[in-house]
Amino acid sequence: MSSTLDQTSDAAARAASFDIRPSDAPLPDAEREALLADPKFGTVFSDHMARVTWTAGTGWADHRVEKYGPLQMDPASAVLHYAQEIFEGLKAYRHADGSVWTFRPEANAARFARSARRLALPELPEQDFLGAITALVRADAAWVPSGAEASLYLRPFMYGSEAFLGVRPSLEAEFLVIASPVGPYFAGGVKPVSIWVSQDMHRAGAGGTGDAKCGGNYAASLKPQIEAYEHGFEQVLFLDASTNTAIEELGGMNVFFVRADGSVETPELSGSILEGVTRMSIIQLLEDRGHEVVERRILLTEVQEGLADGSIVEAFACGTAAVVTPIGRLAGAEFDATISGGGPGELTLSIRDELTGIQTGRVADPHGWMTRLV
Ligand SMILES: *Cc1c(COP(=O)(O)O)cnc(C)c1O
Repeated sequence: MSSTLDQTSDAAARAASFDIRPSDAPLPDAEREALLADPKFGTVFSDHMARVTWTAGTGWADHRVEKYGPLQMDPASAVLHYAQEIFEGLKAYRHADGSVWTFRPEANAARFARSARRLALPELPEQDFLGAITALVRADAAWVPSGAEASLYLRPFMYGSEAFLGVRPSLEAEFLVIASPVGPYFAGGVKPVSIWVSQDMHRAGAGGTGDAKCGGNYAASLKPQIEAYEHGFEQVLFLDASTNTAIEELGGMNVFFVRADGSVETPELSGSILEGVTRMSIIQLLEDRGHEVVERRILLTEVQEGLADGSIVEAFACGTAAVVTPIGRLAGAEFDATISGGGPGELTLSIRDELTGIQTGRVADPHGWMTRLV
């Protein structure tokens, strides 16, 4: 494990390839502090954005950090017509000593490259992905909130920007990172969500883009999400599109089921499930504790049976935004089940506490998952 000093100079080196062009109108300190005291996720953005431009002829060029602001876009830009777009989500956490860290960014960089391949976008080298995040957070370090579970959410994304209406991969692309401060996901204590199983609409199909983090998958999940709200539920659970029987994931979170014998199950990566960094980290932490973790095809009927006979005792969803969310109720057109008495399960809460502890520096980081940014 490298020392704190090495970590700081590593961060400076990663950021060095980005040209810093400071904003001429950063938000005054008092206004920023007022926003950070009660951040509204996704509505407030920091002073700068990181940016790299790609053309088929030149490759990745013009690495910079510039003032956050509107993008110029030709109405014929590829992304607006054929949805050539991918994104990532990760967070920067302020530790008690004031230093700023992020969680497993190499995993996000690798997934971003996989998503790019699937969407026929250019692959961004890992060093540019990490460099952009580091340079932006160093420029906007004052935007990283302190306080339990507050963080600066980072949104890297890339889109095909070429002005051309023909259907082929764009010969120009833009990569950007923007940042939005977020408060604790569960302000008044961890609260279970209710989940509606979508039985007639799917987010992804076999051979499609379900395992790529692309905007199009989210567009496909919105109508089922509205259906869930209309039934009085907060989130949707999707089944596989081929047989409509196997559990996949939520619109933006993976799912786990805890059995009474202490084993834990999660749907295997079938190709239409997004491989969450939170998912893979939780599998590791559960195994570290001696739990058996089974990744397999899980039928909805098996879960219904397990909830009815008491062999499934907890369920939770996980992803960067909420980390771990207990599932208190699972229902569909023909069933309605309460889980863990409708409250958060014990293992769910303790694994959540361990993971957020590693991220915020409260708990030791045995796997070297944290990378220092500032
Ligand atoms: C981003 C995402 C997740 C969670 O991934 P994390 O890396 O844990 O944040 C799960 N499912 C979908 C569809 C996603 O887009």
